[in-house]
Amino acid sequence: MKPWHRVLIAVFVSVVATLVAMEALVLVTGEPIEPVYWAFSAACPILIGAPVSFVLVRQAEANMRLNTQLLIVQRELLAQADRDHLTGVLNRAAFYRKAAAYRADGPASVMLIDIDHFKAINDGYGHAAGDCALRRVASTLQAALRPDDLLGRVGGEEFAILLAEMPLPLAMAIAERARGAIAGLSKRTADGSLITLSISVGVAQFAAGASLDEALDRADAAMYSAKRSGRNRVMVAE
Ligand code: GH3
Ligand code: MG
Ligand code: MG
Repeated sequence: MKPWHRVLIAVFVSVVATLVAMEALVLVTGEPIEPVYWAFSAACPILIGAPVSFVLVRQAEANMRLNTQLLIVQRELLAQADRDHLTGVLNRAAFYRKAAAYRADGPASVMLIDIDHFKAINDGYGHAAGDCALRRVASTLQAALRPDDLLGRVGGEEFAILLAEMPLPLAMAIAERARGAIAGLSKRTADGSLITLSISVGVAQFAAGASLDEALDRADAAMYSAKRSGRNRVMVAE
């Protein structure tokens, strides 16, 4: 409804209410009221009610706009609170909360991913280069996922993934593709040395209704056996 519609309704209601009150007065007292007073009592609510209700309607509209903006900001802040500030993926708490709430009929898969020899990147090229590598790994992992999958940074250079409704063989293929893409991010610096980037990945089945922690523990054990087997590889949980 347009503002001036509301103003018109408010003024109309005030005029009618005043005239009804005047009529009631005539009935109670039995005294007729002069036409000039009738006109005056109709004019009063118009002269006073119109500007007042206009101001109130404008104020109510401004409040509504403010409320909408507040809701948008609140939603953005809540979404930001779930994000890791460096990589933009879910933070640890949000990943665990969302993954624990995951429900599906079919089996899903989980992955634990750890960047190999990451300390050497920090030590050799500085913390900023390490941060840059973290962001690139996160975005490469994200690019391998579908909108319903969950990706979280669960430790300094560790990530976890929940692949929604994804059987283990397909999850292995996705993990392998992500591993290859990240190995492909390795690059040579100006002085000719090679910054190698690789990940070790453990993949486990997450059966419908099963414990998330147990599935992630099995993925973690598989990731550690990938480390022991030489790193830069994907291993499936027992
Ligand atoms: P491994 O192959 O066995 O996993 O070796 P690694 O060097 O990756 O593992 P380690 O646990 O020894 O080192 C992890 C490093 O990650 C140490 C820590 O300084 C670094 N790290 C953790 N969080 C951040 C971060 O936010 N930014 C940067 N640049 N480095 C980080
Ligand atoms: Mg680690
Ligand atoms: Mg590591």
